[in-house]
Amino acid sequence: MRSILSSQVRNCMRGAARGRYKTSCSAVRWSSSEARQWSTPLAKQLSEAITATGPIPLAAFMRMCLTSDLGGYYMSKQEGRDQFGQKGDFITSPEISQIFGELIGIWFVAEWMTQGRKSKGVELVEIGPGRGTLMDDMLRTIRNFKPMASSIEAVYMVEASPALREAQKQLLCGDSPMTETSIGHQSISKYANLPIIWTESIRFVPSDQDKTPFIVAHEFFDALPIHAFQSISPSDSAQETIQTPTGEHKLSPEAAAKRKGPQWREMVVSPTPPGATHTDLHTPKSQQSSNPPPEFQLTLSKAATPHSLYLPEISPRYRALKSLPDSLIEISPESHAYAQEFAKRIGGSKDAPKKQASGAAIILDYGPSDTIPTNSLRGIREHKRVSPLSSPGLVDLSADVDFTALAEAALGASPGVEVHGPVEQGQFLLGMGIRERAEILMKGLEGEKKKGVEGAWRRLVDRGGSGMGKVYKAMAIVPESGGRRRPVGFGGDVDA
Ligand code: SAH
Repeated sequence: MRSILSSQVRNCMRGAARGRYKTSCSAVRWSSSEARQWSTPLAKQLSEAITATGPIPLAAFMRMCLTSDLGGYYMSKQEGRDQFGQKGDFITSPEISQIFGELIGIWFVAEWMTQGRKSKGVELVEIGPGRGTLMDDMLRTIRNFKPMASSIEAVYMVEASPALREAQKQLLCGDSPMTETSIGHQSISKYANLPIIWTESIRFVPSDQDKTPFIVAHEFFDALPIHAFQSISPSDSAQETIQTPTGEHKLSPEAAAKRKGPQWREMVVSPTPPGATHTDLHTPKSQQSSNPPPEFQLTLSKAATPHSLYLPEISPRYRALKSLPDSLIEISPESHAYAQEFAKRIGGSKDAPKKQASGAAIILDYGPSDTIPTNSLRGIREHKRVSPLSSPGLVDLSADVDFTALAEAALGASPGVEVHGPVEQGQFLLGMGIRERAEILMKGLEGEKKKGVEGAWRRLVDRGGSGMGKVYKAMAIVPESGGRRRPVGFGGDVDA
């Protein structure tokens, strides 16, 4: 989730707020051949694709809305849009206070100390770095720990968006040129001539068994596509067919017989009927206001889909719910793949064992501690909740992170790792010393500036209602220790 509470000026220690723009394109309409007016070119393209292939899985819709080259939410700065910050669509923890990134930097320093203070082979990897603020705050902090700073060989930034890659480059490297490489792009950090390397997926970050990767993903997993399923009772007659992109196919009598019990059905996306109203579409009142009715709708697929036959069977957590009619579950296979990749790089895998497990990953995001997310897809635009099925490409889409699923994926991928948490962000940051760091920062300040620092750190740890300290969680993947240690912020001390 993105924080949409009334925005607060980012820690004044960071200096003046950056220039931001209000979106101005809501009035632009795009027409299709049937003369239906679409809010964006992406809406038109999605509708044409669905007309050709039939309703698409929610995950496919989400992926297109966020990262399509044709105006995906993160992909361009068209129309002067800026996603982050007070005047953008949402604000994130690193943008609220510099202390957030500083403490993540310290967390990695503590892991580096505990893991034997390696003198080389250390890599910092950030997934989904937004404006680059978190990495900038981390690098500035780690620079003060010279032996660790000199052990870092490269910083990898996994970023799908060319526009955000450019913003990150400006912040981290200033005027140093950015060059294209075989795996992505590269420039040089303003701190200590470190190479900063951009790739579009973690798959392109070289995986070397001798390296020690320190990986951070803040508000990345909530942007990964989800599939949503509902269990239906055995009496439903549509169990003898399967829905595929080429249409509905009848199953053989043997295959149909095997599927006589409760079944999962996938939620799929299709255009709303022309002229449908908010009432017809049951749009929640809070999302109606001045917005036109959404152009897309979620419906339950009439027959099984390839995903509904496979994904809900991969974990006993999902299987246990199948026989409860109307159970809803969300599954993000791309999230599982990322968690597996983190674990393998830290702990090695059966196919590519590591001599000694090393490195750590910290995942900070929004989601329940141990339950499976349901109905969690949300749309945010200009700090307001809007329908996630409206204005594709102009609305930020995110969904709750299933931390237990990430832990399962990591533990299943590598025998060399253990998982700690999730713990509430408030507990994690207080354990890392946010209060003490804020007091130091506030010493030389007065008036509004002091209040700004105070308000910002308190907002990050606020555990009331839907406070960020409560709804955001932190989870760590670290080398397996046979339960002998806990990382700092997760109940442990530095074992230096
Ligand atoms: N971590 C930042 C930004 C969070 S927004 C912060 O907290 O401020 C999500 C980030 O992930 C953006 O940088 C977005 O461009 C990137 N992103 C989203 N989907 C992605 C994908 N599939 N692959 C790589 N990056 C992605």
